[in-house]
Amino acid sequence: MTSQNKTVKMFVEGQWKNSRGCEETTAVMNPSTGKEIARCPIGTVEDVNEAVASASAALEGWAETPIVERARVMFAYRELIEENFDDLARLLTREHGKTHAEAKAEVQRGLEMVEFACGIPAMIAGQTFPQIARGVDGETNRHPVGVCVGITPYNFPNMVPMWMFPIAITCGNTFVLKPSEKVPLSAIRLIELLVDAGVPKGVVNLVHGGKTVVDALLRHQDVAAISFVGSTTIAKYVYEVGCAHGKRVQSAGGAKNHLIIMPDADLDQSVKALAASAFGCAGQRCMAGSVAVAVGSVGDSLIDGLMSHAASMKVGLTDGNDATEMGPVISGEHRDRVAGYLDSAASSGASVVLDGRNVDAGDSFLLGPSVVDQVTIDMPLWKEEVFGPLLSVVRADSLEQAIEVGKACPFGNGASVFTQSGYVAREFKRHFNAGMIGVNVGVPAPMAWLPFTGWNQSFFGDLHIQGTEGVQFYTRQKMTLTRWFASKDESHVDPVWNSDGPGKK
Ligand code: NAD
Repeated sequence: MTSQNKTVKMFVEGQWKNSRGCEETTAVMNPSTGKEIARCPIGTVEDVNEAVASASAALEGWAETPIVERARVMFAYRELIEENFDDLARLLTREHGKTHAEAKAEVQRGLEMVEFACGIPAMIAGQTFPQIARGVDGETNRHPVGVCVGITPYNFPNMVPMWMFPIAITCGNTFVLKPSEKVPLSAIRLIELLVDAGVPKGVVNLVHGGKTVVDALLRHQDVAAISFVGSTTIAKYVYEVGCAHGKRVQSAGGAKNHLIIMPDADLDQSVKALAASAFGCAGQRCMAGSVAVAVGSVGDSLIDGLMSHAASMKVGLTDGNDATEMGPVISGEHRDRVAGYLDSAASSGASVVLDGRNVDAGDSFLLGPSVVDQVTIDMPLWKEEVFGPLLSVVRADSLEQAIEVGKACPFGNGASVFTQSGYVAREFKRHFNAGMIGVNVGVPAPMAWLPFTGWNQSFFGDLHIQGTEGVQFYTRQKMTLTRWFASKDESHVDPVWNSDGPGKK
């Protein structure tokens, strides 16, 4: 290794340690400066074995800890996140490139997951059925599933890990987190604060790396559940391999979110919402608006509005510039990939009306806001996830045609309609082919108390991340039937199925 930068450590058995036997590290970059800020080890199977052994050893003691005591760790954690809020946001900007305002919003969303976890004691209760048969009471209750694993993407280095471990551990599980190797620093800081909040040794562990580590986690016999968030190809792979090895898996993939603008929409409000959705976080949100479907006469005025809005946006570097409104993408390679869609747009019959390749990027990974008009559903620009500050505009004659565009899309994360008509909003909510719907909302991303209900190629599994589905995912139910005899002489009757029918004496 030639770099002078520090190689980050893994966290196992309550200790910060070097990866075992790791021979390779990758660069963690500051997208604003284009400079390396740390190195991330490409971890090994030994690292995974050590982390899972640590989580397994801590499991029984933690699962037996009363739920109110487990939740108390979350209350302390909440206070520490509040105290360190600004530092967490600045670290996030440094390793990811999002603006300070976007970073603060992300930390806030993560904090809300902890607030949700503080309330899990009230959600985890089971059901009771007194006298479900004669002399017999029935009940269900929820138990932890075991060692849980979280594998997370680069675009929300703070929030996505927080979708997972606060719920998992409050439910009594232990956890192994594998953050994106591009942005490991926020995850490390979150674990440090959790330790300060009093989480016992082994309950949370952290490993670094890529495919080798993920493959070892998916196949490890002592792992019970896998939560994954990332691109569709890897999400599908994680789901298939995890399920084949007997794990329960929730696996969120990529997206292509459509924003439908009706002719009666409030144009100013819609333009602001569209720009924030498409260009916010430099388009690197799984709920970012990627396609505007302009219905009827609204198309030309929508494009004019977007052009003048984008011209007034402060686009630039984010680290140390709190006023910047749109920052760089994660890497030079990713910027070139997104710009490639602009390179090929004209030859496929579309028209680049706002060209982000013109910005002065210096050494940063900046690509300006871009708009491509006259996109059709046979073009790669419409079919593929772009994941950058590029909004495609598809023209449609009617709401029905806009809904058909959505039906052709293989993804199904989010979609929004902009209208003043309740009827149109209702039709859209009922028929659009996506799991998260907005009405006059640019980014219909659910907060902690609601599930993140992606459809189609945007989600693989049954129980989604967040909300009460998250609690269900991280617990398994046990049903108990109980009967007590009044005296030794009382004859035994099978409580449910005796010869006279269910429950009869
Ligand atoms: P990615 O799929 O490249 O990486 C995600 C994780 O998988 C990382 O931890 C990475 O180390 C690991 N990984 C990468 N290649 C692997 C392989 N071949 N085998 C096993 N593991 C591998 O995703 P990314 O580029 O980090 O993140 C952006 C993607 O995440 C976008 O597609 C975005 O839409 C998606 N995303 C989805 C949601 C959602 O809720 N649906 C939320 C955030 C991000």
